[in-house]
Amino acid sequence: MPIRLRRNARSKRFVLRVSGGVIQLTIPTWGRQREAEAWVREQTAFIEKELASEGDAVPFVMGTRLPVLGREMEIVPGLKTTGEFGDDSLAIAPTPSAKLASRVETALRDLVLREARRDLEKFWSLLDVPFAPVSVRSYTRRWGACGPSGETLINWRLVFAPREVLRSVCAHEAAHRIEMNHSWAFYAVLDKLLPERAAAEAWLRQHGARLGAYGRTPA
Ligand SMILES: [Zn+2]
Repeated sequence: MPIRLRRNARSKRFVLRVSGGVIQLTIPTWGRQREAEAWVREQTAFIEKELASEGDAVPFVMGTRLPVLGREMEIVPGLKTTGEFGDDSLAIAPTPSAKLASRVETALRDLVLREARRDLEKFWSLLDVPFAPVSVRSYTRRWGACGPSGETLINWRLVFAPREVLRSVCAHEAAHRIEMNHSWAFYAVLDKLLPERAAAEAWLRQHGARLGAYGRTPA
């Protein structure tokens, strides 16, 4: 299993994350690579448990069925390299496998970015804050982030969650435009934006880890 090594000046210890079938090891700048690798070898049980919680890999190949914002869609051959979403299909121009997977991911990222921006702009209007840039990211352990000037980042894997789950993450990040913390005041803002968020949040706690399996090639 390949391990992606990352050095981080703010990191104070070895940190292991498993997402999308990729093992990422973060070590402090002063950390010794040899020590880190020896440490990882002792974490096999943890790694296996994390991989298992993601479930079986669901590669992006022709014929794969994916949940896309709550609708089941099949990847089928199409004409456009950028992909075209139908009621139950994502039609994409055929190409050798690695390139096809990246085309599918790009189409899904574009879709989730459009939908997230729509939700965020609605919430920002309600809160009467200025619109800010929105982008999608590949995070291992978070669903969204809101920067100091309101720029908002959304985990693209939310495209595999029901539509209302994406909306609840957008409401959460929008509420951070008013309160940059998780205080009672923050939740008061959030409750006003989206009173019916409990089910979506519960869904994410229960199924969130599974979202990392999509797009992963079987080991
Ligand atoms: Zn938050």
